[in-house]
Amino acid sequence: MDKCVEYLREHRREHLDWTIELCRIPSISTKEEHKQDVAAAVRWTHELCEKIGLKSRVYETGGHPAVCAEWCHAPGAPTYLVYGHVDVQPTGDLALWDAPPFEPVQKDGWLIARGAADDKGQVLVYLRAAAAWLATAGKLPVNLKFLIEGEEEIASPNLGPFVEQHRELLACDHVLISDTGLIRDGWPTITYATRGLLYKEVRLSGPHHDLHSGSHGGVVANPANVLAALIASLHDESGRVTIPGFYDDVVELSDEQRAQLSALPLDEKEYITSLGSPAPHGEAGYTTAERRSVRPTLDVNGIYGGFMAEGANTIIPARAGAKISMRLVANQDAEKLSGVFDRTVRERVPDTVRVEILNHGACGAYMAPRDSQPMKAAERALREAFGKETALMPEGGSLPILPMFKRLLGVDCLLIGLASPSCNAHGPNEKVLLADLDRGAEAVARLFGYLAG
Ligand SMILES: [Zn+2]
Repeated sequence: MDKCVEYLREHRREHLDWTIELCRIPSISTKEEHKQDVAAAVRWTHELCEKIGLKSRVYETGGHPAVCAEWCHAPGAPTYLVYGHVDVQPTGDLALWDAPPFEPVQKDGWLIARGAADDKGQVLVYLRAAAAWLATAGKLPVNLKFLIEGEEEIASPNLGPFVEQHRELLACDHVLISDTGLIRDGWPTITYATRGLLYKEVRLSGPHHDLHSGSHGGVVANPANVLAALIASLHDESGRVTIPGFYDDVVELSDEQRAQLSALPLDEKEYITSLGSPAPHGEAGYTTAERRSVRPTLDVNGIYGGFMAEGANTIIPARAGAKISMRLVANQDAEKLSGVFDRTVRERVPDTVRVEILNHGACGAYMAPRDSQPMKAAERALREAFGKETALMPEGGSLPILPMFKRLLGVDCLLIGLASPSCNAHGPNEKVLLADLDRGAEAVARLFGYLAG
């Protein structure tokens, strides 16, 4: 293992060049005109896999291609599947970038480029570690597979079907992913839970066109008024969601987990101030750290209807609507709650208006077992590489691939985050701290060793 670490240090420059080269490819998966670039990034990854000694192949998926690579010559040893993506978000307004997004720049230890943090820099950490093992020991201590796709930033439409069709090829004991963040710079972090999502749109309609509020006001229900009452009814005064049974399946935190969460380096005041809100708010009885990660929420994402232009226009709107999303936590069932939400809305809306409910997606929450062998091995590897205890963190966002891997391959995922909290993924001047990638590669090389048993 020391030889691996030594190798990684000696080949740091070459490995940095890999990251720079990959970041030069404008693999924006959302844009049709970049289709060839996404394919080029996938092909580039495939060639690197072959170069370091993995068996690799590019697969067409119906959308952007994916690469699957493997080294499976450790009979009896466990098998790990590394998942990552080499597609990126669009650049947004180029004027907000200090340098062109696909011309990587190094500054004060940072590499600035679209994709540097999300996810090119992070996914290459695993190839760096595998290369170090293969170059120094001629073998890996475990069986290792890679699944690197080009559609993550467009919600991986073909990944589920691909995994389903290639279950045998991808069969493994555990999935390894680095596509999340560090809780603080230089502070190793494992994300062990993500929230699910249930997204609804409620449309209310009354008269068939906007009415004069003087001539007709007071005789029919105003859909905007009804919508406001409906929305107000969805929370009680303690900030809890009032949909019947909403909390029934929520896994409550143990005292130990709560203590651990409160020990994470999150300064509530600094955090809320950084958001620009005048004061914290949320479900009574829970801390800010708990509210933003392990508690379910319901939020109105947008409200529409009626007169919104300049000045006054006295109407009763014909219709009004709201987009409403819920963040779910383990073990809430998105499908079950979807039905309960619809029934609750229909019950609460009076028959003086018509109601229509649209579905805009659902995804399950995920929680990894926190005492698994891979988790313990990763904590040790990260501690040794970063010289600091690992923060175990639940994440507020959703990662649909986690419940997908669980459902289709029957395995859990280990999420080692290497992106700085200030990496600005998806925004202008996306960047990654090169020292975090270097320490990450050392940690992963150690991890491969510890995963062997
Ligand atoms: Zn990503």
